[in-house]
Amino acid sequence: MTNLHSCLKCFLKAALIGSLALTLLPAAAQEAAQTENHGINVANMDRSETPGDNWYLYCNGDWIKRTELPPDRPRIGVFSQLDDLSNKRTAALIEEIAKSNPAAGSGQRKIADLYNSYMDEAAIDAKGLTPIRPLLNSIAAISNKKELAFALGQTLRADVDALNNTNFHTPHLFGLWVAGGFNDSDHYAAYLLQGGVQLPDRSFYFDTTEHGKEVLTKYQTHVSAMLKLAGFDNTDARAERIIALEHDIASKHLTLAENDDIHNANNTWTQADFNSKAPGLDWAEYFRGAGLAKQASFIVWQPTAFAGESALVQSAPLETWKDWMAFHLVEEYAPFLAKPLADENYAFFGTVLQGTQQQRPRWQRGVIVVNRYVGDEVGKIYAQRYFPPEAKAEAQAMVANIIAAFRKRIDALPWMAASTKAEAQAKLTTLYVGIGYPETWIDYSGYEVKADDLFGNAWRGNLFEYHRQVARLGKPVDRHEWSMTPQTVNAVNLPLQNALNFPAAILQPPFFDPQAPAAANYGAIGSIIGHEISHTFDTEGSTFDSKGSVRDWWTPSDLAHFKAATQKLAEQYDKYQPFPDLHVNGEQTLAENIADVAGIAASHDGYVASLNGKTAPTQDGFSGDQQFFIAFGQNYASKGRDAALRQQVMVDPHSPAQYRADTVRNIDAWYASFNVKPGQTLYLTPEERVRIW
Ligand SMILES: [Zn+2]
Repeated sequence: MTNLHSCLKCFLKAALIGSLALTLLPAAAQEAAQTENHGINVANMDRSETPGDNWYLYCNGDWIKRTELPPDRPRIGVFSQLDDLSNKRTAALIEEIAKSNPAAGSGQRKIADLYNSYMDEAAIDAKGLTPIRPLLNSIAAISNKKELAFALGQTLRADVDALNNTNFHTPHLFGLWVAGGFNDSDHYAAYLLQGGVQLPDRSFYFDTTEHGKEVLTKYQTHVSAMLKLAGFDNTDARAERIIALEHDIASKHLTLAENDDIHNANNTWTQADFNSKAPGLDWAEYFRGAGLAKQASFIVWQPTAFAGESALVQSAPLETWKDWMAFHLVEEYAPFLAKPLADENYAFFGTVLQGTQQQRPRWQRGVIVVNRYVGDEVGKIYAQRYFPPEAKAEAQAMVANIIAAFRKRIDALPWMAASTKAEAQAKLTTLYVGIGYPETWIDYSGYEVKADDLFGNAWRGNLFEYHRQVARLGKPVDRHEWSMTPQTVNAVNLPLQNALNFPAAILQPPFFDPQAPAAANYGAIGSIIGHEISHTFDTEGSTFDSKGSVRDWWTPSDLAHFKAATQKLAEQYDKYQPFPDLHVNGEQTLAENIADVAGIAASHDGYVASLNGKTAPTQDGFSGDQQFFIAFGQNYASKGRDAALRQQVMVDPHSPAQYRADTVRNIDAWYASFNVKPGQTLYLTPEERVRIW
């Protein structure tokens, strides 16, 4: 999901798609972040490598050599190590809360009960299929397409996000995203996105590589197995029909790259428009089922997909749709059901798609479930305990320096019109930068949690979030609202709010360490901060003005220049080939690659400015500039499985870690710092280096 009209999105795509098995954040087996070492970690480098030939190994080679990938992880790296730390802390908080026997109905009691309901495997197994039987029965009772439309409407959830954490995947027929309106950013609008397939993206259904064909064959076996476990007969034939339907749905979907064009996505449809523009599905019944009968209009992200999917509701047999619904229900909730279902779900989504050999320990998955459904309740305590005011003040100072660097860069651009520069500066003035934790917290009082009902907790949790989002429609937008919890190791740009979030959990060593030299902090967290700020000004940022409304505030010639410069970057990344039959998609990853180049460039300026003309202290013989670039390269230390890397290349708007580190080749100061010469692998002539800002 990223591209020329690119998405402003989070720094890395942590929450993957499909089942809980996939939404587990990759976390490291090793003990959490090294805190004794301040600044760059020289022990992780392989100094026998030449920086100009193999920069990534030069920065991270020894770490890669001595690190073992645990069997339950698709990949590990700096992010996952911090993630482990965050999970451990959260688990300890949960334990503490459970021991304190919190009052019934309190937020803390929900944390304890939800966690305990996940940990009580015996109770979950004893229930077998009982928790979902009523839902399977009501699907079986559907007797015509009108009832089908109502039932499909009932499955609508707020489980997609087009611009913030960017998730274009929902297994439900469609997905709802509630955010400030494209045309009225002061009020929440209802966005509808394509959906209906279980595999992570449409491309999986058309993958003709050997690996891709094998995945599809295994998927067929898996669908059949899930149906058998759910008590169905003739499961092979049903699986075949379900997959054929998913294949047809996928053929109507837009690609991830196409999803990034805001102008194509800005389609306001009234309820009547659905009937004329996307006939087939009984839309009145659908919206009635979704509880949206009174919602006057929607923004339809992919009109052709809505037309295509709606027509399929009419043309495909009712029985096939009912099997599809039953399978999708079982697949989605399998991680919350008895072991045979949960294991089969993991075997496909965890092992086949990600290559992991075993599931993460149950307690870690329990923490993820708690974070998913009552994340703010945990975050309140987490922020208080782990994010001191001094850390917040220091991070704010860095942000101020990097914003100042951006201001100078914008003013110095020879190709940008004065009017465009003025609006860009206005965007920096109104930018809300959230550091550590939000100013307000989600109120979970309407969410019922029971200590002995895991499936019900998950079901009600998804519904609670859906109703919470629907209730906001038409109300004024809170521009200071966060989209990540403090315990999340990530960062995000929220274009419709013109806001950034840097959660407490990423503002820690090795990304950010108040005791480390400025060079390391600017190279590591500074370039991440710069990355998020730069999304404010990329092709997608250029479609949102300083108030977050969709407005083309760039002149056509500004945009033409920008597109030409970024095209060079897309071509640079297209050449990276992690597998003989699969190369990085320069178009799909363009927005993130732009943000990486711009982020490191602005952070380097901010770093130089922070020195006030003084020479930086050396560390282990490395100059300030060298430390800066090595710290940047060390952000991306990563070790992963081939299956996970393939999936990433196919669905992630971010390039694989190694190539993100290699973007230093676009920065002049890197060449001088490491004496990089023509003939070396990463060498680019000054003309070939991409300068965006
Ligand atoms: Zn990004």
